[in-house]
Amino acid sequence: MSLLDTLQQESEEKLKGGDIKLTSELYDDDKVPGLVDEIFTEALKKHASDIHFKPSEEKLMVYYRIDGQMILHKEFEKIFHHPIVARIKIISGLKIDEHRLPQDGKSSFVYEKMEVDLRVSVLPTNFGEKVVIRLLEKNPKLVELRDLGMLPNVLLKVEKYLKSNYGMILAVGPTGSGKSTSLFSMISTFDATAFNISTLEDPIEYRIPDVTQTQINTEIDFDFPDGLRTIVRQDPDIIMVGEIRDQKTASLAIESALTGHLVFSTLHTNSAIGTIQRLLNMKIDRFLITAAIKLIISQRLARKVCSHCREQYPIPKTYHDLLRKEIGVDPEKDFFYRAKGCEKCNNTGYRGRIGLFEVLEMTPEIEELVVGGASNKEMEAKAVEQGMILMRKDALYKAVTGDITIEEALRVMA
Ligand SMILES: [Zn+2]
Repeated sequence: MSLLDTLQQESEEKLKGGDIKLTSELYDDDKVPGLVDEIFTEALKKHASDIHFKPSEEKLMVYYRIDGQMILHKEFEKIFHHPIVARIKIISGLKIDEHRLPQDGKSSFVYEKMEVDLRVSVLPTNFGEKVVIRLLEKNPKLVELRDLGMLPNVLLKVEKYLKSNYGMILAVGPTGSGKSTSLFSMISTFDATAFNISTLEDPIEYRIPDVTQTQINTEIDFDFPDGLRTIVRQDPDIIMVGEIRDQKTASLAIESALTGHLVFSTLHTNSAIGTIQRLLNMKIDRFLITAAIKLIISQRLARKVCSHCREQYPIPKTYHDLLRKEIGVDPEKDFFYRAKGCEKCNNTGYRGRIGLFEVLEMTPEIEELVVGGASNKEMEAKAVEQGMILMRKDALYKAVTGDITIEEALRVMA
């Protein structure tokens, strides 16, 4: 039995059903390191990406971010606050007696042979120090291209363009939409001993054997344009630029794509079509955009409905017209899915995530529209006519096939 379980069992009589609360009577100096370790262990078991230690006037709340959502893990009475923060500071090499200035530190933690880096950030607030810890797996597993969640014909389209000898493939979306996971899935389909593959990253997340990976470091003025200028002198076949943030990087990346290299990158835009406008805003010439870009993959991440406890239910009448119109299914015959929660999904009903995609090909017809200065609406209509599946349709398909709930589909589309 774990320490937290013991403490909670001891306190059961004092608490009314609040199995996540730890009261001041349970406080013991010697137990703090164990408590902190257990918070880390539980976070890793539950595949949390971050741990938040958030103080209020009377309490310290501990939240996990799991599959993008904040979930309350434990609630401590205030007496636990300082000792827990002090313990975290000790293991991440921070000053214990500094309470007025923000601090950043690092540590690591091992759980069942899995090693994670802890990126610790401490912020002074009106209720004392708030700590947020990002958990970064040291050697995260690459997701295979076919496991990202692309519909079969979308996957075929992407695979077709991966055979190009030059040009640019972009993954676009907001922060946390899985763009770099997609890029690495694509890059790992190449034989890295047969091609010279170089990446510029900030930070390096996945490690791929035989790929030359370089960390950008803006603190010493080593930025994406600097890195790119050097990489093209190193006889590359395939180049990955972690992110196009500015005009300089954009024009260098486009230039590389037009001089016989296959270039992968990401952009922070909301839709496939919107990416073209974004590049135009960065003062990239229309002709260069159409000549360089092969494919734009716009994406989001949706929480998957837990496959262990999900169940089918008839599609409510309110969605019938939408489904008929958008994806042409018979809502009388199909189903939606929901999950009541089980041990496997921490009683949330969700487990893991899946990508929602909208993939734009630079066809001759789209090229013509871009060069002619057509509106986004015109371009989108043409792309759809040529087979592009809009992201909202992808979401609805996935609700009907049982990958996600309709609520999640609507949430991500909003
Ligand atoms: Zn479940």
